[in-house]
Amino acid sequence: MGQPAIYQRIEKNRPGIARLKVRSAVTLLVAVCLSMALIVIWQAWNSRQYHLQDKQVAMSNLAQTLASQAQASIKQADTLLFALVDRLENEGSGPDQISRLQRLLRAERSELSQLHGLFVYDETGQWVANSNGAEVSVANNSDREYFIYHRDHPDRGPHIGPAIKSRSSGEWIMTVSRRVNHPDGSFAGVALATIYLSHFLELYDSIDMGNNGVINLIADDASIIVRRPFNEADIGSSLAKSQLFTQLLPRASAGTATIKSIIDGVERVVGYRRVEGYPLIVFAALNKDEVLASWRNESILSALIVSVLLAFLGVLGYRLIKLMRQQNRIQVELLGSQEKLLELNRNLELLALEDALTGLANRRQFDLFIQSETGRALRNLTGLALLMVDVDHFKAFNDHYGHLAGDACLRKIADIITEHIKRPGDLAARFGGEEFAVVLPGTDYVGAFLVAEKIRRAVMAASLQHVDSPEGVITVSVGVCGYDPVAQTSTEALIGAADKALYVAKASGRNMSVIAN
Ligand code: GH3
Ligand code: MG
Ligand code: MG
Repeated sequence: MGQPAIYQRIEKNRPGIARLKVRSAVTLLVAVCLSMALIVIWQAWNSRQYHLQDKQVAMSNLAQTLASQAQASIKQADTLLFALVDRLENEGSGPDQISRLQRLLRAERSELSQLHGLFVYDETGQWVANSNGAEVSVANNSDREYFIYHRDHPDRGPHIGPAIKSRSSGEWIMTVSRRVNHPDGSFAGVALATIYLSHFLELYDSIDMGNNGVINLIADDASIIVRRPFNEADIGSSLAKSQLFTQLLPRASAGTATIKSIIDGVERVVGYRRVEGYPLIVFAALNKDEVLASWRNESILSALIVSVLLAFLGVLGYRLIKLMRQQNRIQVELLGSQEKLLELNRNLELLALEDALTGLANRRQFDLFIQSETGRALRNLTGLALLMVDVDHFKAFNDHYGHLAGDACLRKIADIITEHIKRPGDLAARFGGEEFAVVLPGTDYVGAFLVAEKIRRAVMAASLQHVDSPEGVITVSVGVCGYDPVAQTSTEALIGAADKALYVAKASGRNMSVIAN
């Protein structure tokens, strides 16, 4: 009886276990998909940062190189200016000196390819000497920014003005100028060196800056001197409101950042640096969209691949979970069927131990029972008795009243026997045909005889009519035998002895109980 209880428990728990398994599988699947997605996003983000940083470093290096180049170019011109101012202030500007100066300027100018010209103006802005010969007719430059600056500022350092279009040649130039003083320190004029913007632009254009990259040479007052890509309208325009001047330069004289241009609104990865010794800033920038283009393509590709993988995983997972659900359902159904089979088995087992006609124990159960009871009696040295009850002249009864009546008669006798064995340990069985056996554990042959007699009398008292019997009613004969554990009689011997006593009862006239000797 232990088995069905186990199955009941399993069946009760199984749906829970099954649901848990499916839920775990779903959780696992979701976790795997989420992890994959997170890893890809994290990697894409890292790669993006790497791309940006890489270009920031490149822009920073470029700004440094260009700053060095600008410094070198300007320094060369400025060195000439310095010597020129010194000469003017010490040797004066008489006609002799001027004509010597004129020759010197021409020679010096031809030495430096970036140099557009060297000029000297007096305190009224009147042109005094220049390196380009006497062909320039418009001679007063007192309206130029550099002239006004030096006239109004006593400092002796170099001044870099906004880019201008040369009045002498019509070319875009950048001006580097120094103030010339009279011996008393008052304003005596300006020495000016002009540098071709093309000197810078040619270099800037030779650098691969993508489609929308920018290189700027900017004056300290935030006005653009040179800008690549070149556009006349940009020259001189102010960047004072740009992030470069409002945030970056106040913090550091060199650095990198990602900022939005106030000129064209494009976001760029930039590197910037002040030019050492001159009020200039170099600024190199790449279009952020372009910088990230290859990253974007890579990311889209990996996102696509991962999406396909995830979709594949999703489909597989879905099918797996569906299979698991199906299997769980089948398992529950199987367990149900198993329990039904066990129930059926239990019934069959009962049927196998019961006599179908009388409801008493059948021969099989009798055999098992008497075997175990004789064993017990042997071990415990307790009493045990066996009755063999046989219906008298039953063949004649059957012949006279019919088989069905015979069956009913057997059932009645079975009931009578059952009524007279009261102890729970007793067993009444149908031994075969119209013969019954009664096992009485813990009873000796005397007690057993009393039970036998009670049964015999009760059958007679039931007055079941039997015209072919000498008594006119159904009677039974009983063989009684006590089991002797000391003599260690075998079970077969016990049954044989009871049978023999029954035979004696039959032979002695029937309707009596006989004890085995
Ligand atoms: P005796 O007094 O010597 O026991 O004579 P008897 O006729 O009872 O004995 P016998 O062994 O000659 O006959 C037994 C009869 O019991 C034969 C059979 O027809 C009948 N019988 C055995 N089993 C059943 C049964 O299940 N139902 C019915 N109706 N009759 C049965
Ligand atoms: Mg018989
Ligand atoms: Mg008989």
